[in-house]
Amino acid sequence: MSEHTRVLIIGSGPAGLTAAIYAARAQLLPIVIEGEPSSTSDQPGGQLMLTTDVENYPGFPEAITGPELMMKMREQAARFGADLRVEKVHKLDTTVRPFRAWLAGDVEPSVTADAVILATGARSLMLNVPGEERYLSHGLSTCATCDGFFFRGQDIAVVGGGDSALEEALFLTRFASSVTLIHRRDSLRASKIMQERAFAHEKIRFEWNTQVTEVIGADKVMGLKVRDTLSDEERVLLVTGVFVAIGHVPNTTLVTGQVDLHDNGYVRTGMGSFTNIDGLFAAGDVQDHVYRQAVTSAGSGCIAAIDAERWLEAQGI
Ligand SMILES: Cc1cc2nc3c(=O)[nH]c(=O)nc-3n(C[C@H](O)[C@H](O)[C@H](O)COP(=O)(O)OP(=O)(O)OC[C@H]3O[C@@H](n4cnc5c(N)ncnc54)[C@H](O)[C@@H]3O)c2cc1C
Repeated sequence: MSEHTRVLIIGSGPAGLTAAIYAARAQLLPIVIEGEPSSTSDQPGGQLMLTTDVENYPGFPEAITGPELMMKMREQAARFGADLRVEKVHKLDTTVRPFRAWLAGDVEPSVTADAVILATGARSLMLNVPGEERYLSHGLSTCATCDGFFFRGQDIAVVGGGDSALEEALFLTRFASSVTLIHRRDSLRASKIMQERAFAHEKIRFEWNTQVTEVIGADKVMGLKVRDTLSDEERVLLVTGVFVAIGHVPNTTLVTGQVDLHDNGYVRTGMGSFTNIDGLFAAGDVQDHVYRQAVTSAGSGCIAAIDAERWLEAQGI
């Protein structure tokens, strides 16, 4: 038999845990399905579990590590009575009321919920080359806004050819001595205006028709093995930092075909965290392709919990 909750929160990154803190303090006794430690995209604690120092989350002037920050958020949610579970939602049905969610291995719906807050986050597309996982947060990053500051005075590389790659490269010129943009083709996908800005920048140079084959280093990144896609020639680029900027994918499998998505796959929210489905709210990176920060995700988790609480109140549930 399924158990019933007024609010089911899916995800335990900054968005899900902040929603949990607010929903728990509003006496809604939320169930939080945190994700499973099996893969990088659905591990409890979310993306910040993959990083070391977080220097831009307010309240921690000396920085805090990502895992520590997430542990504190989790403790705070638990303290107010959120029911946190290290499990994964495998299926969600928002076509019936109450909504139904299936957890691992369950044939019948495991949980029914009057409202659901979807906070399943997003993941960066990765190069999938040797060394990449090892050096993530040790010289390799997927977020210039988050980590650019750590690369002051260094020679670094950005991998990618779209608008985000150029945006990251231009932003990184504030810190780095040089930024090498590595692209596997001979022209960029990015908009003309971004291309013009990048071409004109004295700190940015381009490696065309170039593919990264390995990230190399010792304790930290020391270089990249690259291959010329035309001649097949291999060589090493000496850089002490690399930003992978080949795109992000929101974790929307649970709601695909049920909820309105933007063309780029992110959940479409209207005012606050409301989706087009009554009672389904979305928070954090799963609905934000612009800011993608821990603090904005936490903020939107707060919004979702307040929206859900008021919605439940208005329904008399
Ligand atoms: C390497 C790295 C460094 C970063 N550094 C910073 C930084 O310094 N400062 C900053 O502000 N931001 C940083 N960010 C960005 C920040 O981590 C994200 O913006 C933020 O984590 C998004 O929060 P979220 O709660 O929306 O999603 P996420 O953190 O992605 O969490 C998603 C949650 O959903 C869960 N989930 C997914 N699918 C399911 C499912 N089917 N069932 C149950 N649970 C599920 C996952 O387990 C996870 O708990 C960094 C990101 C990365 C990758």
